[in-house]
Amino acid sequence: MKKVVKFGGSSLASAEQVKKVGDIVRADESRIYVVPSAPGKRFAKDTKVTDLLYQCYDAAVAGGEEFQTILTEIKSRYQEIITGLKIKLSLEEEFAVIEKKFMERAGSDYAASRGEYLNGIVVAKYLGYEFIDAASVIFFDEDGNFDADKTDKILSRKLKSTERAVIPGFYGSLPNGQIKTFSRGGSDVTGSIVAKAGKVDIYENWTDVSGFLTADPRIVDNPDPISIITYKELRELSYMGASVLHEDAIFPVRQANIPINIKNTNAPQDPGSLIVSETSRRPKHVITGIAGKKGFTSVNIEKDMMNSEVGFGRKVLQAFEDCGVNFEHMPSGIDTMTVFVHQDEFEPQEQKVLAAINRTAKPDAIDIEVDLALIAVVGRGMKSSHGTAAKIFKALAQEHINIKMIDQGSSELNIIIGVKNEDFETAIRSIYKIFVEEE
Ligand code: ASP
Repeated sequence: MKKVVKFGGSSLASAEQVKKVGDIVRADESRIYVVPSAPGKRFAKDTKVTDLLYQCYDAAVAGGEEFQTILTEIKSRYQEIITGLKIKLSLEEEFAVIEKKFMERAGSDYAASRGEYLNGIVVAKYLGYEFIDAASVIFFDEDGNFDADKTDKILSRKLKSTERAVIPGFYGSLPNGQIKTFSRGGSDVTGSIVAKAGKVDIYENWTDVSGFLTADPRIVDNPDPISIITYKELRELSYMGASVLHEDAIFPVRQANIPINIKNTNAPQDPGSLIVSETSRRPKHVITGIAGKKGFTSVNIEKDMMNSEVGFGRKVLQAFEDCGVNFEHMPSGIDTMTVFVHQDEFEPQEQKVLAAINRTAKPDAIDIEVDLALIAVVGRGMKSSHGTAAKIFKALAQEHINIKMIDQGSSELNIIIGVKNEDFETAIRSIYKIFVEEE
């Protein structure tokens, strides 16, 4: 049995937290590859080391005096951890190199990556594991896209010859050797890449929550935890705003059929959530989770005999595409077609899009409605049960909520509902109640 364990910033924010990490790693022999983030927030108003590094680099570029102040703060964050762990380690030389590189304008990606790099050195020393610089095993191509083939080849070879290693998250290198990072929260992605290359049995992702919840705890009191969820379900939920894991972290492990276990560093006994490709385990409820987002606009386009006009839909969508506006959903009727877009993306382009639709598709009428919310009700259990949509209608009718749109994907994995922004929270609570509390 082999495991990759990735620890998020809050799990490594202080010496006390790193000690918990040490206990977790030592408690299980199979935890052989460790992927750390940079030290995160120790308390609500604290600043993450990654953010300090961005600020520090900006100050270096601007030539401001602040540079030294921020650098000193970063040094003391690491020193506090090293002292608290009672390990013999000096980062003095590393910091001298970093300072020099900042002066040479090594780039903000280089700057940000040092958070994980230094933390990797600290964690490796504390655990007695080998340190592997991610720049030597994680690669991007000339265009800055992750180079999966090259990485997999070199990283798997390296891991084969390494018994236990710490590989810092978040960054890799470009063909010219320059450092490049993933987008924010990208250590999750590194964990997934290491899991695939290391051919491990499970990817444990340690954070500060005990996995996914059926609904947003800011909306629903004490929502049920999700013990097992498929990658597909998770995609639907995270796309709609449920975020614990970086979106791109799913792909490498999904290809390799490696499950991810989301665990809580502060409550390691909790089982957390298991993300799998397929499962025969029946979900506890018909639905696995509910998520949603506010701030959509619907553009409703009407034209008599639209259904028999070849190319009508293409012309409408072309208008959005030409103006760089992404569409979210597109429910349609016989003579109507509605396009849901993000309000903030659409607003600046509005008149351009409308003019283009009028010019090319020549509709009878266009009607716009703003301040809408979309809610995704997701669950593999919906496939084998009937009456799910009816139940949603009932839940919303009981609360006198007007449904603006309902759209079921053909996979029967999710139902998307459009309501007014102001009904968003009540709608989620009522759907949660009918499916989870009353089942
Ligand atoms: N430290 C990076 C960030 O704050 C990456 C990560 O934590 O995953 O975004």
